[in-house]
Amino acid sequence: MHRTVVGVDIGNSTTEASLATIGAAGSVEYVGAALTRTTGVKGTVNNVEGVATSVMRSLATARIPPAELDLVLLNEATPVISGLSMETITETIITESTMIGHDPRTPGGRGLGVGTIVGVGALADTGPGKPVIVLVSAGADFDATAAAINTAVGRGVDVTAAILGNDDAVLVANRLTAAIPIVDEVSRIDLVPVGMVAAVEVAGPGQSIRTLSNAYGLATIFGLDPGQTKAVSPVARALTGNRSAVVVRTPSGDVEDRVIPAGSLDLLGENRRARVDVSRGAADIMTEVARVGPLRDVVGESGTNTGGMIATVRQSMADLTEHAPADVHIGDLLAIDTMVPQEVRGGVAGEVALENAVALAAMVRTRESGMQAVADAVATELRHAGATRVEVVVGGVEAEMAVRGALTTPGTDKPLVVLDLGGGSTDAAVLEADDHTGASHLAGAGDLVTKLIDAELGLDNLELAEEIKRCPLGKAESFFHIRLENGTAQFFDTPLPSTAFARVVALGESGMTPIPTRHSMDRIRTVRRTAKTRVFVVNALRALRAITPGADLRQIGFVVLLGGSALDFEIPELIADAVAPFGIVCGTGNVRGTEGPRNAVASGLVAAHVSALSNDGVRVHG
Ligand code: ADP
Ligand code: MG
Repeated sequence: MHRTVVGVDIGNSTTEASLATIGAAGSVEYVGAALTRTTGVKGTVNNVEGVATSVMRSLATARIPPAELDLVLLNEATPVISGLSMETITETIITESTMIGHDPRTPGGRGLGVGTIVGVGALADTGPGKPVIVLVSAGADFDATAAAINTAVGRGVDVTAAILGNDDAVLVANRLTAAIPIVDEVSRIDLVPVGMVAAVEVAGPGQSIRTLSNAYGLATIFGLDPGQTKAVSPVARALTGNRSAVVVRTPSGDVEDRVIPAGSLDLLGENRRARVDVSRGAADIMTEVARVGPLRDVVGESGTNTGGMIATVRQSMADLTEHAPADVHIGDLLAIDTMVPQEVRGGVAGEVALENAVALAAMVRTRESGMQAVADAVATELRHAGATRVEVVVGGVEAEMAVRGALTTPGTDKPLVVLDLGGGSTDAAVLEADDHTGASHLAGAGDLVTKLIDAELGLDNLELAEEIKRCPLGKAESFFHIRLENGTAQFFDTPLPSTAFARVVALGESGMTPIPTRHSMDRIRTVRRTAKTRVFVVNALRALRAITPGADLRQIGFVVLLGGSALDFEIPELIADAVAPFGIVCGTGNVRGTEGPRNAVASGLVAAHVSALSNDGVRVHG
């Protein structure tokens, strides 16, 4: 008599099912698999819907009627949620009307112009000789503007540049008798002060400005002393990489770089504790996390954003699991330095500066899990759906099951380390030659990568960020070809959609997604790879150190990567490169030789069940 068994792994993002039939002699045949999105927070009764769906689907793939299902094995899923916060720790403020960093999409002309700002209406009253920059408010007609400038220049007025409210720079530039640099799209043009000395710089297509992005360039133009040069250096920094810029020197106007107090974290370790200020950045925070580890809990300074984030994570976990907040502990923390675009306070054209920020991911676990309640609810649900004789049991600890499942990858053997790269957490487990196991759970995984990409590119669109994370980039250079990020070209027989033309696109399996930003392909690629490195390479090394005696990575022979993020087209490579110096063989798992990095825990549950049966057998007969 064979038995029909399904192992189910409830993850933070995905619920996976592995269906097997077990023969009377203990032989196992895997006959089906399915996966679905996890419903509710892992380890809570809301998971039932996703579990039932994945079980029924796995039965359907093998054409086994629900009535023949004997047993469902669930993993011991400790609820884990990861909280995420992004703290901006620097701020650029412009006082008075000093304008920085304005980089319109289509500036006109090229070169550098320095002069006193004069309204276009006052141009007729301006005498020759003195260099001037013309200021034109929004709503002005480009023909009239060009005519006024040409007339003045004809009278000998030294017009060196123009600042426009409208998006007209190219139209005006094309009508001028003498070429000058022009910036446009200055939305709050009424804030630009007439009578002050300013500088406008426009670089050629594909180039970036040289003078206004150089502190000494600014000092030369405005005659600054060393103290003043130091004060304006943030301006130069903010303008780096722009194709155009305008800087106005006002008597008391200033640009400040300010460090925002972000609050401190109290890290409570097993034996040590530490307090660290978030504005000190990720490196300092992670040094302290490693020093006091293993972490028992983390408390954020109350009244600060950091304190708020830590408290919110703890409270939402307490609510979901019906535990008291005091029973909810933060078991790991990952801090990452990022640069996020923020609108400059006091700017006149929506200027954006890249500010330093720290992203914090925290992993919260409760003391005990409520998996028995989940198992009971799953049994009720499945019996309703026709699985009349099913039993549901909580089968085993996730990390141990993951190694068992990973061992079904061809070419692997004990001792073995698995790194499960999921959505919310990075989990490591080790199976020693003597069957001894160990595990470590770290905050930060695929979802954090997506959020970093979203924030650093200023997208405010997590779906697009997810697409950018998963796909290589290309740029539509003509209607029939795309330049791929690796430099090669891909040709098409039919014209590309007009929405993609001249845009950077993410090349997914189902087509291309245009990325509606002004970032170059190189910049998007760098942001993507840096985010993956900062989360997964950092966590892989932390996890391997945590589970290796003496943190000596040279003792590890084989690492198998599992989980959704192991499907990524570059994360496995980035990790393999980082661990290669330790002589570690690292690759993506292929569970049961067919499932890729998916289904390890679900398959491991079945394998553990079978080996427990045969052990019992040995005992009975021996
Ligand atoms: P969990 O075990 O926590 O439920 P998963 O193993 O399902 O998580 O992994 C979810 C993560 O995997 C998500 O961050 C998702 O973006 C990522 N992911 C899934 N498929 C891919 C893919 N093809 N390429 C890159 N990342 C992927
Ligand atoms: Mg998982």
